[in-house]
Amino acid sequence: MKLTKIVYERKQIPLKTPFITALRSVENVEFVRVYLYTQEFVGIGEAPATKAITGEDIENIMHSIAAIQRTLEGMEVQEALLYVQSADIGSSAKAALDMALLILLAKQTGQTLADFFGIKDFAPLYTDVTISFNKTDTMLQDARTAFEKKQHILKVKVADDIEHAIKTIRTIALDLHGAEILVDANQAWSLEDTLYFIDETKDIKLALIEQPVDAKDTDSLKSITEYCDIAILADEAVFTLEDAKKIIESQSADMINIKLMKCGGVTPAIEILKYARDKGVMCMLGSMLEGPHSINIALYLAMAFRDVVKFVDLDSPLLYKELPSELDFMYEGCKISLKK
Ligand SMILES: [Mg+2]
Repeated sequence: MKLTKIVYERKQIPLKTPFITALRSVENVEFVRVYLYTQEFVGIGEAPATKAITGEDIENIMHSIAAIQRTLEGMEVQEALLYVQSADIGSSAKAALDMALLILLAKQTGQTLADFFGIKDFAPLYTDVTISFNKTDTMLQDARTAFEKKQHILKVKVADDIEHAIKTIRTIALDLHGAEILVDANQAWSLEDTLYFIDETKDIKLALIEQPVDAKDTDSLKSITEYCDIAILADEAVFTLEDAKKIIESQSADMINIKLMKCGGVTPAIEILKYARDKGVMCMLGSMLEGPHSINIALYLAMAFRDVVKFVDLDSPLLYKELPSELDFMYEGCKISLKK
């Protein structure tokens, strides 16, 4: 089955409210959607612009696809999968092409994506929901609103003001009993800040602290992991399988956050998940602010690897103004089930 044509376009989905982290603030999900055609089928892939994280904006992603488009057209799908992974292009562009190719492989063999991924357990998944960085009062209000909508797993985004972080996390945790609180600092803290935060929140229950320090500072990450009982999750420090090995072998974090856009798609994500499974390390299956097709495939992956995926961070659709029909999954509060 050969690729006959590749088409790509820029897409935007408006958000209910702006999404704010220590690194950026956005009002729309912006992504590239790529269509890979064979004689009979089409596979769709997507990659969002996340310049602050992967270094790729919309232009970079489109440029990457354009750079290998002529080579891919006419290539066998299986061969194209290998070629994309070895190509010298950004990880998001790779992810978009990789998922479109896997969808084509599934279609070629007449399998649903659930069969293709070997999913046996269709029990619902539960995603966390992001509480954007803001004034403490606003964040508490947002957390309460989410909690009322049965979104009880809250990923709270904090930034470099450590006093604000402590106050906000304490306020939310003490207000919302039964909420599971994940703290994401997106590298904004120093080692000292982090230890101070841990000491000042000792009496409240936190599910994890995500990437407190700079991605390159694995020594500090390891010191933090050794210092506390709270699970420490490496996010920006882990893009590739090599990064995952480095963090896991050095025991610098308790868990790793795997995102298709960081590692270059489903194919490498599976390698990382299998490695983590071998090592007995739990993962978060995360995402950027993404379009429905890339979230869709990440959800299949999370379901297929549910034994090693302890946390699901695939809440983008909940942030859209409207839920798109492209999703194979339903969202009810934070519960996600495959549509019948
Ligand atoms: Mg993160």
